[in-house]
Formats: sequence, structure tokens, C-alpha cells
Amino acid sequence: MKLKTVQGDITSFKTDAIVNAANSSLLGGGGVDGAIHRSGGPEILEECKKIVAKQVSCKTGVAVITTAGELPSKYVIHTVGPVWNGGDNKESQKLANCYKNSLALAVENNCKTISFPNISTGVYRFPKEKAANIAVKTVTDFLSAHNQVQEVIFVCFDDENFRLTKNELENRD
Ligand code: ADP
Repeated sequence: MKLKTVQGDITSFKTDAIVNAANSSLLGGGGVDGAIHRSGGPEILEECKKIVAKQVSCKTGVAVITTAGELPSKYVIHTVGPVWNGGDNKESQKLANCYKNSLALAVENNCKTISFPNISTGVYRFPKEKAANIAVKTVTDFLSAHNQVQEVIFVCFDDENFRLTKNELENRD
């Protein structure tokens, strides 16, 4: 199985890359973003600042890559999820872009194992069931076209995301 769901704190995972649900400033925030910067140390923020200096901000759905600092993984891929605004603002398409662009950047950087949090399902309020469906579908489609990726792990923090993501994955088996 190339795809699995586990419950835990993504900062303790060791994969080639872990994905961060960042905001467009790339300067850190709460939730998983705060946890990654806290545990990874200042090196991650230094690289984020350099990226922002070049491109001002990071648009929704886009992904950028930095060191993982003191975290066990090699890289952090920062992607900006959509804020849920009722569903008529291309939120689903933008969330799918987060997963696609993060995976494409991982492949470009020779990453074979990647961990994802449940992007946008915290303060950005994306409905969790819909988000789990998009996450699993987008990653499954990507994997079927890119066999250099060996493993993708959905690291769910809360019980509800864990249950929904696991269900979504089982329904695809
Ligand atoms: P967003 O702004 O994209 O909604 P959040 O960080 O608020 O980002 O939430 C995204 C998801 O990350 C939520 O489901 C939240 O439960 C989860 N999360 C928070 N901390 C961690 C962590 N340390 N590891 C993995 N997931 C986390």
C-alpha cells in the first residue's frame, strides 16, 4: 500500500518531506504551521522569508519548499490551502491544487515519501468530509501517474479527520 492514514503529530514523522498548511504570508501561524515552526526551529522561517522576498506572497494552491530544520524529515513543503467560503469560490479545485502542487514539488526534489496534514480543515473551516474526499482522490490520481513516489501518509491530528480520511481510503480499496 502506497497510501496510508495514521493519527498523530506530523512534526514527529520522518518522511522525505512533510507538508505544511501555511498561510500566504509564509511567516508562520497557528495550528500545524505553528507546530512545524516551533519544532523545526528558526531555519525554516529564514528560508520562508527569502522566498517571500522574491515572490511577495504565496498564492492559494501554490507550494514552495524549504529545509525541515531540526525536524526528522528532509524538507517542509509549504502550501496555502483555501479558506472555506461556502464552496462557490473554487475552494475544492484550490484544495486539489495544494495536494497536486505539493506532490509535484516533492517529485522534483526526489522525495519518495511524503506526509500530509488535513489541509484547510482547521481555522480555514473547509468541511472535513469533503476535504478528505478531495485529498484521497487527488493523491490517488497523482500516484497512479508517478511511480517514483513510494509512500504518502495522511497524518490526521483529530479523531474526526482520522475517521473520515481512513473511511475515504478504505472506500477506494
Ligand atoms: P488551515 O489554516 O489550513 O485550516 P490548521 O493548521 O488550522 O490549517 O489546520 C489544518 C489541520 O491540521 C487541522 O485538521 C488540524 O487538526 C491539523 N493539525 C494541527 N496541528 C497538527 C499537527 N501538529 N500535526 C498534524 N496535523 C495538525
